[in-house]
Amino acid sequence: MGFNAKDFRDLDPGDRVLMGPGPSDVSQRVLRAMAATCVGHLDPYFLEVMDETQRLLRYVFQTENPLTIPVSGTGSAGMETCFVNFVEPGDEVVVCVNGVFGTRMADIVNRLGGRLIQVDAEWGRAIDPEAVRKAVEGRSPKIIAVVHAETSTGVLQPLEDLSGIAKESGALFLVDTVTSLGGAEVAIDKMGIDIVYSGTQKCLSCPPGLSPISFGPKAIEVLEKRKTPVVSWYLDMTMVQSYWGAERKYHHTAPINMIYALREALRIIAEEGLEARFARHLLNHKALVAGVEAMGLSMHVPEAERCPTLNTVSIPEGTDDLKVRKTLLQEFSLEIGGGLGALAGKVWRVGIMGHACRKKNVFLFFGALESALTAQGVKVTPGAIEAASAVYASA
Ligand SMILES: *Cc1c(COP(=O)(O)O)cnc(C)c1O
Repeated sequence: MGFNAKDFRDLDPGDRVLMGPGPSDVSQRVLRAMAATCVGHLDPYFLEVMDETQRLLRYVFQTENPLTIPVSGTGSAGMETCFVNFVEPGDEVVVCVNGVFGTRMADIVNRLGGRLIQVDAEWGRAIDPEAVRKAVEGRSPKIIAVVHAETSTGVLQPLEDLSGIAKESGALFLVDTVTSLGGAEVAIDKMGIDIVYSGTQKCLSCPPGLSPISFGPKAIEVLEKRKTPVVSWYLDMTMVQSYWGAERKYHHTAPINMIYALREALRIIAEEGLEARFARHLLNHKALVAGVEAMGLSMHVPEAERCPTLNTVSIPEGTDDLKVRKTLLQEFSLEIGGGLGALAGKVWRVGIMGHACRKKNVFLFFGALESALTAQGVKVTPGAIEAASAVYASA
């Protein structure tokens, strides 16, 4: 039982279609970009790549914010960055919680010693702006935070009212756009968003590893007026920005090849155009819902609150959830997600994000699911393809 290098085979994951909650499929163009020569983090070539990446990020976020950069870390690092730079001990922070990611935000606020004001909604429903209005009455919270696309439930949160409440109460408006950026409209300047983060592996269709963030002018003002230093050295944007800005001062080594990947993924989005991209996500979402309902299954979220990029399908009575997902993966190389937290065992999470958001995948999902359910003796009504085709034909 000695150690033998030959025991380790060549890496070969095979093919996959990633229709879970992320990561989503990554295009060959992005994978090829990652394989380009690794240069130094202060190499003139890389500095140009950094500037272009920032310009492309401003395009997808629809912002003029100078401080728009990818944080070196996954979406959760972006979340932590957005709180750690603004929350000082004792600060009042309103966090809207209707799923796993709102819960994570609340956890971070508590860890930072902020005074958490939590506004809850049922998992699978949007946050009621009136509940937020009530929570801020007579207070002046520093931040109002919400998840735009709650990946654990499939709800897309309308942002207009919450943005207005933040403005009226003098709070910074902080939004998680991890599962919406690149799939549904995130126009941060127009929507009055002051602090925002996202992730690369959802609708940007880039591997996990970076978290794009952007801070607006009001947020920068607050950052500059901090009384205490940012408690995280790594995520301290007052320092990180001097590497991404004109000074080019070393802070930590940028993940060079990941940034190549992000640049390419963003370039693909710019080529498609934001409007066309949002329309594509909406169309495939409508087709998916039409097919799911034609099969006799139902969606977990009411129609008006559904997120186009992440669809929660209620698991029919008498179904072995794990077995269905195992069949999809083994027989169809198709990944979908199970429920998280309160929704474990109750829903499937079907992502149609970025590169994976296409008709052939939607149809593959219908076929694979029908096959897996039928094999278990769970009755499904035929007609998914016909119902979805009607949606595609009407576009
Ligand atoms: C995936 C996700 C995150 C966390 O991102 P990681 O890359 O897993 O760290 C945060 N918020 C939302 C809404 C997400 O979907």
